[in-house]
Amino acid sequence: MTKVHSSSLAPELEKEIRSIVGAKNFFIDKIGITKVLNQRSRSRPIIVDEENRSDFSAVVLPETTAQASGVVRALYDSGVAMVPYGGGTGLMGGVLSLSANVCVSMRKMNKILDVDKVAKTFVVQSGVILGDLEKELNRSSLILGHDPWSRSYATIGGSIASDGVGYLGGRLGSIRNQVLGLEVVLPSGEIIRTKAVEHSSAGIDLKQIFIGSEGTLGLITEATMRAYPYPERTKIIGYCFENFQKGHKAVLALHEKGVCPSSLDLDENRRNITDPREPGETRLHLVFSGLRGEVDALQKEAQRIISRYAKSRISKTDTDQYWAERHKIADMVLGGGSRRHRTGNGSSFDYLHVSLPANAVSIFRKRCLELAKTYGVEVVNLGLWHGPNMFSSALHADGANYVESRQKLMFILDHLLKYAQTKGGSMEYCHGVGVKLVHLMGSEHGNSLKLMDAIKNTIDPKGLMNPGKVFPRSQP
Ligand SMILES: Cc1cc2nc3c(=O)[nH]c(=O)nc-3n(C[C@H](O)[C@H](O)[C@H](O)COP(=O)(O)OP(=O)(O)OC[C@H]3O[C@@H](n4cnc5c(N)ncnc54)[C@H](O)[C@@H]3O)c2cc1C
Repeated sequence: MTKVHSSSLAPELEKEIRSIVGAKNFFIDKIGITKVLNQRSRSRPIIVDEENRSDFSAVVLPETTAQASGVVRALYDSGVAMVPYGGGTGLMGGVLSLSANVCVSMRKMNKILDVDKVAKTFVVQSGVILGDLEKELNRSSLILGHDPWSRSYATIGGSIASDGVGYLGGRLGSIRNQVLGLEVVLPSGEIIRTKAVEHSSAGIDLKQIFIGSEGTLGLITEATMRAYPYPERTKIIGYCFENFQKGHKAVLALHEKGVCPSSLDLDENRRNITDPREPGETRLHLVFSGLRGEVDALQKEAQRIISRYAKSRISKTDTDQYWAERHKIADMVLGGGSRRHRTGNGSSFDYLHVSLPANAVSIFRKRCLELAKTYGVEVVNLGLWHGPNMFSSALHADGANYVESRQKLMFILDHLLKYAQTKGGSMEYCHGVGVKLVHLMGSEHGNSLKLMDAIKNTIDPKGLMNPGKVFPRSQP
């Protein structure tokens, strides 16, 4: 991994930051930094990736936008690189310090400022945990809409910065669709507020450049967002298929007919999918939620379509359990306080989440299985989320040691991600780029990357805002 921007804090800078946020919100010693980054906040740990444990030179926890602006300005003027930090659950290394950067943790900017039941909007500071916000909105008969596996740990700011997709993304899409307006502290410390309106054709919609920019263009401090009415009815149905192909056909048929569930999850599960002798099955879960009448109508139509392809129905007990336990994996991974890509001494595990044109899914799956077989890698899961475009896979590799198995896996993943790009797809549909995929940004965007670089250089000419992430040229 490339090291960028070496920095150590000058005593005057330390003094200035301490005067802005107070001593209780500023940590420069190793023990203090580690404690803050691992501290459990209402049993919610901030997770730092085990393999690339950060070496921040300081952690600052602003409580207000004015404090955040003062801190960012002071760091920028002193030429010190900084990393915005939400819940630390990002999977792409977006919150890693690639050198002795300063961590600007949003944990204390966690206030819900307004909920408007009639307008169905809310205003929050960016460090609010999604799960806390969900509970608060439910009190006003609203739902957040963005419901990722990691909702008990991730923040609204981190989710906007990664343009995340959650379990209700079938109908609602990514979190981008919910953002009405943003307050952002630019690298210079200047505070901008984009207009929080439903529709505007008065010039460029500036909030869009911060959504999905992974903290590289500024610190999101506040968001005004759309909420959704608490559904009158939620129905979950599930089916088993003989194989992935039949499940895939059912998904395409639903899409063709315009049956759009709130959530769609097609999952091919076998110990090793490259080996057809392994026992396993393909399951489809559909969730319909909304007004009673529309839920009933959609469910009826979906049942009619899917019965042509399915082998059997999944019992109501099992489908209810699937939905009730949808966040469990995050609790297992994040609740334990560590996140590993290792499964043993000589084995590695990783995943891909590519966005493909619907007609490229079959050929991509085939390539995935062929390549895995050639290199002796196990494909343990394949699936589609929310429709015929978002394709994911989990892979597992063994080797003489961890480095060997990891290299094998990374080689295959890079090949597949590039293959998705050549098929007109995108290498990632919801977790961002971070450091993990930065080397593939050129093949992802072609000459459009020059325009992205120009935007980055205009907003952050010194390259101090989350360096080494998203923009390949932000690495020397
Ligand atoms: C088990 C597990 C399950 C997951 N499931 C999902 C899922 O279903 N859907 C999904 O989309 N993601 C999922 N993720 C990924 C992750 O939870 C999301 O990307 C989440 O939105 C990150 O939020 P965070 O607050 O933890 O951000 P962080 O990890 O803290 O930060 C992510 C990026 O955003 C930047 N950032 C954070 N806060 C701000 C801010 N206020 N202003 C500017 N930049 C900021 C950071 O610098 C970093 O680049 C999962 C992760 C795990 C570990």
